[in-house]
Amino acid sequence: MGLILAKLWNLFGNEEHKICMVGLDNAGKTTILYQFLMNEVVHTSPTIGSNVEEVVWNNIHFIMWDLGGQESLRTSWNTYYSNTEFIIMVVDSTDRERISLNKEELHKMLESDELNKAAVLVFANKQDVSGCMSATEISRQLNLQNIRKHKWQIQSCCGLTGEGLYQGLEWIASNIKSR
Ligand code: GDP
Repeated sequence: MGLILAKLWNLFGNEEHKICMVGLDNAGKTTILYQFLMNEVVHTSPTIGSNVEEVVWNNIHFIMWDLGGQESLRTSWNTYYSNTEFIIMVVDSTDRERISLNKEELHKMLESDELNKAAVLVFANKQDVSGCMSATEISRQLNLQNIRKHKWQIQSCCGLTGEGLYQGLEWIASNIKSR
């Protein structure tokens, strides 16, 4: 009975999809999460641990985890991986100093067996700041071309205005696999 109900639930588009949003501290993860949630900017403070919210868009339910990005918290990202369908990595496009650290963290997490089937969306955030790195440059710096086992996409965006965020969600929606 439970299974039938679950199937019917899915038929009506109520399937839930787990997304883990990662990135270094200050990248803009929490800002983006609350843009999705309320279409407005909230004043954020660094995430200690994680935030989780349900975002419903076009009748698709996403469970979005926003994982704290400070060094001490990054080591626990892997405890959130099980059943993750999508990774969103948020990159601060103004932070040239830590772009190689982003690359290390991304490639390290993609080695996890639990993320074998996860697709990756990189948000090149803070595109409103002049002189920031372009999505093409970030793509090169993160060595995205070398990711072969996962679908990936990079999308420029601005967490403050919401520009680009829904294009990212559209890509995610188009890559949802029916179970
Ligand atoms: P988190 O640590 O990754 O969760 O980052 P936050 O969401 O707390 O954002 C860190 C800082 O970056 C905050 O002051 C935000 O207002 C700011 N921020 C987030 N997105 C943008 C953006 O697109 N452009 C600019 N200029 N600032 C942003």
